[in-house]
Amino acid sequence: MPHLPEHLLAGYRSFINGRYVAESGHYKSLAREGQAPETMIVACCDSRAAPEVIFNAGPGELFVLRNVANLVPPYAPDGEYHSTSAALEFAVQSLKVKNIVVMGHGRCGGIRSALDTTSAPLSPGDFIGKWMSLIAPAAEAVSASTMMTTTERQTALERISIRYSIANLRTFPCVSILEGKGRIALHGAWFDISTGELWVMNKETGDFEKPDIG
Ligand SMILES: [Zn+2]
Repeated sequence: MPHLPEHLLAGYRSFINGRYVAESGHYKSLAREGQAPETMIVACCDSRAAPEVIFNAGPGELFVLRNVANLVPPYAPDGEYHSTSAALEFAVQSLKVKNIVVMGHGRCGGIRSALDTTSAPLSPGDFIGKWMSLIAPAAEAVSASTMMTTTERQTALERISIRYSIANLRTFPCVSILEGKGRIALHGAWFDISTGELWVMNKETGDFEKPDIG
């Protein structure tokens, strides 16, 4: 007898009797024809910042990659295990997504750990420390800004890391070639958990602004 926590079974019961019934035709056609999402989202694992919820997306709409602090590492064809790069490769080369959105969020624990170099690793492997070392130069620069409050430093690094990930997306030849041809667009966004506000990166300035959503 397989077991899942009761709250998961309750949630599934609600899904299969509710949303699935309403969308079953859509699920069946997606099963038949395959997925063709136009947008890939790179988001954080944080349980409070789920892209499908924030963008009110249905099945088949978003190709979502989540990792700690929504980072994209630089292109590195070195034979190691690159889960983020694998998902990116599939989205760009096979699904041919038209948009890639790197979505960060406020109160990000991964970003906080990058700014707090005094805490001990969570395990001997220190996987988070290694992963967050991707943005160590930016974290050190932001930490050195004594004029900023802790909250300001946190928000600044959250947004800097989004720009950093977008720059790294362009180190992947498949992305930069398609962007040059106008067939893929790269976007940045930052979600404020406490207010629900979504800030969008201005492509010219790199600043984050609240979009006019009408
Ligand atoms: Zn996060």
